[in-house]
Amino acid sequence: MNKVQYVRSQGQFQDHGCHWPGCTRQVPPAKWGCTPHWFALPKDLRDRIWKAYVPGQEIAKNPSPAYLAVANEAQQWIREFLERKAVPAQGSLL
Ligand SMILES: [Zn+2]
Repeated sequence: MNKVQYVRSQGQFQDHGCHWPGCTRQVPPAKWGCTPHWFALPKDLRDRIWKAYVPGQEIAKNPSPAYLAVANEAQQWIREFLERKAVPAQGSLL
């Protein structure tokens, strides 16, 4: 079974939310986040999260340092993305 088949076959078996800050959607633990938020990430980040993901890490709870590094990078990217989005909205009121 390849990685795509593995992830698709994994259901929602434990409490696990989307990793997007503030998102409360439940997603299967094999997935990083809900579909809209996953695709909100730049392709480069998605590719690297996907590459670093090792099937079963969400069960063994032993993600590799490479996965944790890129997962942190994604959180950083989201923070900057949300800040960028906030600035023009405030600026237009001035
Ligand atoms: Zn989400």
